[in-house]
Amino acid sequence: MAADRILVTGGAGYIGSHTCKALSQAGYQPVVYDDLSNGHEGAVLWGPLVQGDVRDAERLTKAMSDNRIVGVIHFAGLIEVGRSMHRPDLYWDHNVNGVAAVLSAMRHTGVGRLIFSSTAAVYGTPSTSGLLQETDPLNPINPYGDSKLAGERMIAAHCAAFGLESVALRYFNASGADAEGQIGEAHNPETHLIPLAIEAALAGGRPLTVFGDDFATSDGFCVRDYIHVADLARAHVLALGLDRIDRGFEAMNLGRGVGASVVEVIKAVGAACGRPPVYEVGPRRAGDPPVLVADPSRAAARLGWRPEFDDLQTIIATAVAWRRNRRFGASILPNAA
Ligand code: UDP
Repeated sequence: MAADRILVTGGAGYIGSHTCKALSQAGYQPVVYDDLSNGHEGAVLWGPLVQGDVRDAERLTKAMSDNRIVGVIHFAGLIEVGRSMHRPDLYWDHNVNGVAAVLSAMRHTGVGRLIFSSTAAVYGTPSTSGLLQETDPLNPINPYGDSKLAGERMIAAHCAAFGLESVALRYFNASGADAEGQIGEAHNPETHLIPLAIEAALAGGRPLTVFGDDFATSDGFCVRDYIHVADLARAHVLALGLDRIDRGFEAMNLGRGVGASVVEVIKAVGAACGRPPVYEVGPRRAGDPPVLVADPSRAAARLGWRPEFDDLQTIIATAVAWRRNRRFGASILPNAA
């Protein structure tokens, strides 16, 4: 029997490519739909690539019918909190119109199951210091979070009206790289903490600017929940295979339930690199909540999902190995020195 084909928008990107690998290992056939604006052709290793804009409903419809797609995982979108504060227009356009186009193409082709790439940014600044639950208030404080929450709500309405089934996975901080070294994080420009801290630990690397040291946390630095990308990828496969999705739409947190501050990350990177990152403390970045840590118990209960990478040092070791990997500078990141 032929493998079920899954359209993966943004499948040439960081979390998307790891999810394609996990899909393939689970017996699915991923078909990547990506415009390669941020993704890398060299990261499309487990199935065909259809090049296209995620806001182009016609092209998506054709990709779904040509490839006899049975489910969609929608990653394609813009992901930088900081940039979203300066270019909200782009975030509303790509992230909201992208979801609208995917939903329209799914209706036209009768594809009934959607896994959506969402984010902890939908919670905004939590009112308590406890672990975030899916039922907590949704009050994004940046256009990135706003646009992702709008996507979730549009999907939920389509589930109610048209019988679509969908899971929105709210990622905390995706990190690390494929343990076999085939793929990893390669944003250009890079804005995320762990790869920038690794750069700052390399001889001659660019120093890291830490965005604020005066947050109301135990050491004054921002706290995040860093979760390995392969664990995130596996959760998508589990969500796709759920027997029945409650009320047509469910949202689930994906994190480890453990926070680490920026300085704790810097120390762990230093230990993994054998040399401390050079950094200075600068002003806060607009749109950064002080603490975001998941309560992942819903994903555990519904998906039987538990992170296999359960400590920060091991997660960071996979990111450092990837940075030292020959593929990092070659086929994945053509503009790298
Ligand atoms: N951060 C930092 N300097 C950087 C990039 C990030 O201090 O150059 C901090 C940021 O303020 C946040 C944490 O690192 O507290 C994680 O940020 P990142 O952009 O990696 O992910 P986000 O939490 O925004 O999704």
